[in-house]
This record gives sequence, structure tokens and C-alpha cells, in this order.
Amino acid sequence: MATLYGLEGRKAIVTGAGNGIGRAIALRLAEHGCALGVIDLDLAAAASTAEAITAAGGVAHAARADVSAGPEVTAALAELSERLGRVDILVNNAGVCKIGKMLECSEDDWRQTFGVNVDGLFHCTRAIAPGMVARGSGCIVNIASWMGKAGVAAYGAYCASKFAVISLTQTLACELGEHGVRVNAIAPGLIVETKMRDDSEPLRRAQGLPTSEERAKTIPRRRAGVPADIANAAAFLASDQADYITGETMNVTGGLWND
Ligand code: NAD
Repeated sequence: MATLYGLEGRKAIVTGAGNGIGRAIALRLAEHGCALGVIDLDLAAAASTAEAITAAGGVAHAARADVSAGPEVTAALAELSERLGRVDILVNNAGVCKIGKMLECSEDDWRQTFGVNVDGLFHCTRAIAPGMVARGSGCIVNIASWMGKAGVAAYGAYCASKFAVISLTQTLACELGEHGVRVNAIAPGLIVETKMRDDSEPLRRAQGLPTSEERAKTIPRRRAGVPADIANAAAFLASDQADYITGETMNVTGGLWND
């Protein structure tokens, strides 16, 4: 499996890897031979992912950081970079989703959404990308959303933050391509078996929005996605097989979104 992607021996950092999609990406990259730096706001969750990797014979280190806080990111990434030696792959996955109509969106929800989803990407990328540029190689995968391609009622702040993720992916790809650094994004659709989905289910119901189960029935693929679906795409984008792909945002939505 490892030779398929040529990821053996690479060093990767995944943010928000204590749960859901980030955890699945960290586990998948480790299966392909990457050494992992696992970052999460929740240290116990990050440690659990790192333990799962080491229990399977891999190499992983956990660190706690709130990605919205620049100094915390700097400290955690310095610690992980020292242990890993260098960072070849950065997956900006940590994210939050606040549900509510725009006119009712609180200042706190707005700030937190942009703090984690956008500032987090800014902080991590600015800390890691210079090393990639200096070495002339590296790969960044940003976890956006299909809601970064369409405004959706009750997801105003989230959609706006994910549009920003896609725009930054394109800009960074333009700026870093000549230095051998590729930057891509993934736009997941409805992904269950995540804390984000579980936490938001009652809120969605309260807003009169369809449940994940109801929504899944309307998706062309006729099922919700699972974290492993996103991990498959992330491993591909991080691999040498994707060497000529940069600035791209790949839909992984089961057909929910195709633009
Ligand atoms: P999740 O809640 O299961 O996992 C997110 C992880 O990020 C958690 O472990 C959480 O502790 C961590 N985190 C949150 N805030 C953080 C912070 N400030 N600093 C560091 N870590 C932090 O959610 P998920 O569904 O796995 O989401 C992962 C990414 O996928 C997010 O960017 C999300 O927007 C995106 N996404 C999810 C879905 C979905 O349906 N689940 C759809 C599209 C996009």
C-alpha cells in the first residue's frame, strides 16, 4: 500500500486530528508510512490518535494547540518539528461549524468560525510553509467544504470561512508552486461519524433543517460520506501521484455538489 502513494518516510502534520476527518487522515497517512504530528485543541483526543498510530507500528507525536491562537501554534509546531525533523505535508483540517441565520449570528460565533477555520490555516501555513520553500518541496492540503462553493441558509459564517479557505488555497498555490510546494483543498459533503455532525444534529433539527439521514437520501450516491472517504482523497493529494495538481479544490461529496 505504501508504495502506491510514495508517502513512505514523509513527515506530516494534521490539525484537528483528535476526531473525525482529521483523525482518519492521520491514520491513513500513517498507514502509508508517514510519521505524524497530531495537533488538536483537545490533547487527550490528539494523544488517542497518536496512540492508535503507534499501536499499529507507526510513528506519531501529539501536541495541544488552539489553531486560532498564533503563539500556541508556533509553540506546538516548534515542538513537533523538532521531533519529526522536518514537515513535508501539512493538513489544515481543524474547523468549527456554527449553525444559525446570518441576522442571528453572534459576534462570538462569527469570530470563532473565522478564528479557527481561517486564522488557523494562516497561522499553521505561515509556520510550516517557509521550511517547505527552503527545501524546494512540500504539500499542503486544506479541508474546506462544499459550503465553500455555495452560500447556504443557516451556515453564513461557515460558508464565508470556507470560501476563504478555497481562495487562500488558490493564492498559496500561485505563490508557492515555483518553490515546489503544492497547495490543494478538499471540499467534503455531508460527512457523518464526526463530532461536528453529531454535535450539530439537534441544532439542525431546531432550525427545521433536514437530519443527516434525511439529507443523505437526496445525495446522488445515496449515502452520507465517512471520514475515510476524505482520508482517501487527502492521501492522494499529498502523494507524488498528484504532482501536477495544485490550486485545486476536490469535491468529495457523493455528488451532492459538482461545481
Ligand atoms: P470534528 O468536530 O469531528 O473534528 C474537528 C477536530 O478539530 C476536533 O478534534 C476538535 O477538537 C478540533 N478543533 C476544533 N477547534 C480547534 C482549534 N481551535 N484548534 C485545534 N483543533 C481544533 O469535525 P470534522 O467533521 O472531522 O471536521 C474536520 C474538518 O472537515 C473541518 O474543517 C470541517 O469544517 C470540515 N468539514 C466537515 C464536514 C462534515 O460534514 N463533518 C463537511 C465539510 C467539511
